[in-house]
Amino acid sequence: MLRMETIQYNLPQNRIPRAWYNLAADLPKPLAPPLHPGTLQPIGPDDLTPLFPMALILQEVSQEREIEIPDPVRQVYAQWRPSPLFRARRLEKALDTPAKIYYKYEGVSPAGSHKPNTAVAQAYYNKIEGTKRLCTETGAGQWGSALAMACAFFGLECKVYMVRVSYDQKPYRRALMEAFGASVTASPSVETECGRAILAEFPHTNGSLGIAISEAVEVAAKDPNTKYALGSVLNHVLLHQTVIGLEAMEQMALAGDEPDVLVGCTGGGSNFAGLVFPYLGKKIKGETSARVVAVEPAACPSLTKGHFAYDFGDTGHLTPLVKMHTLGSTFIPPGIHAGGLRYHGMAPLVSHARDLGLIEATSVQQLDAFAAGIQFARAEGIIPAPEANHAVAGAIAEALKCKAEGQGRTILFNLCGHGHFDMQSYINYQAGLLENYDYPAEEIAMALAGLPAVG
Ligand SMILES: *Cc1c(COP(=O)(O)O)cnc(C)c1O
Repeated sequence: MLRMETIQYNLPQNRIPRAWYNLAADLPKPLAPPLHPGTLQPIGPDDLTPLFPMALILQEVSQEREIEIPDPVRQVYAQWRPSPLFRARRLEKALDTPAKIYYKYEGVSPAGSHKPNTAVAQAYYNKIEGTKRLCTETGAGQWGSALAMACAFFGLECKVYMVRVSYDQKPYRRALMEAFGASVTASPSVETECGRAILAEFPHTNGSLGIAISEAVEVAAKDPNTKYALGSVLNHVLLHQTVIGLEAMEQMALAGDEPDVLVGCTGGGSNFAGLVFPYLGKKIKGETSARVVAVEPAACPSLTKGHFAYDFGDTGHLTPLVKMHTLGSTFIPPGIHAGGLRYHGMAPLVSHARDLGLIEATSVQQLDAFAAGIQFARAEGIIPAPEANHAVAGAIAEALKCKAEGQGRTILFNLCGHGHFDMQSYINYQAGLLENYDYPAEEIAMALAGLPAVG
């Protein structure tokens, strides 16, 4: 019999999960509540109705362990789900490690990342509640293209504020959004009050996710037919992503293995949470002792260097305050190519898990992330997204630790997207044009000095 070099563990379509997994139901200590940006009092569902449909607001605060996935959402998922899980045998060989390395591959979605898992759900709930248009931000363009696609499927208009540095670095992502019918504007823009204020102060800024979020929220808050959609951070977004980990558990069972180490990259925390939250549920119940590692860029290190404190989700201070690891809402991260990881904060649920000691965090420099991505591509044939390179680097580091210790552990990481729209960053890397960024200590200290005072 042919012994496969790279083994793919496939599930049939009828194994697409029927319910998302809600970690909030199993937490030993509840999340700190979000606070109103004006009164600093806990917000209620009514405060969020200008921005989100009620179904998503209820998911945001739900304590139910399982939330059923509507059939129309599963129908769309069926185009690329269940996504494949691979054993990376050639990478194991290249590293000469006793570790087994598995990866869940989310780049098979039409937009090329995990983002459609929540984009489709958000577009669906907005559609059935009568929303006409969705407004959002995008960093590298993966979220914008996922939402643009989902809006096309459900007949919604889509408006995207794209972070300036990515708008210039990634024109093909913009073209993809426009092909799906979205309207795309570089952020900060002159279209919003918040954008005009930032441009007046910093006319040549790279932009940031925090700024683009303010622009999108401002537009949605002012127009009754427009709602806002966020591609990460919020509880309901992380919830939708748990299809990744739920499928991975079944696939690891097919492989006859259990992960000892789980690895994912973290920008706002959604792909990481998608893979690891179902496992954290088991960990809380004592059913696994797997280590869980978040990998973030050294240039934007919220989990490893940020404060765990209440902060705004956006630079213009329009969003509720949430308790999270933050670098300060006015921090504008260096223009690294992993645009999806340039966010000053972190999902409150991921930060809470870190605070409870359920997960670890580490950071990687840009050049090391690309070196790992190239090594992975040569072994496995898939070019990872620059963001996903951080997870690859984390998984390789774990595999090399196994080698140094002579230990054969099982590593599972999330390959959250492909890099086919990011080839300019690979061209620049191969030409020696990319640089590492020192930890921007001074700017972060300044931004942290402006944290809101919450008693
Ligand atoms: C958006 C994105 C990220 C960062 O967002 P998370 O919410 O942390 O997952 C990482 N990787 C890819 C491929 C992305 O599209």
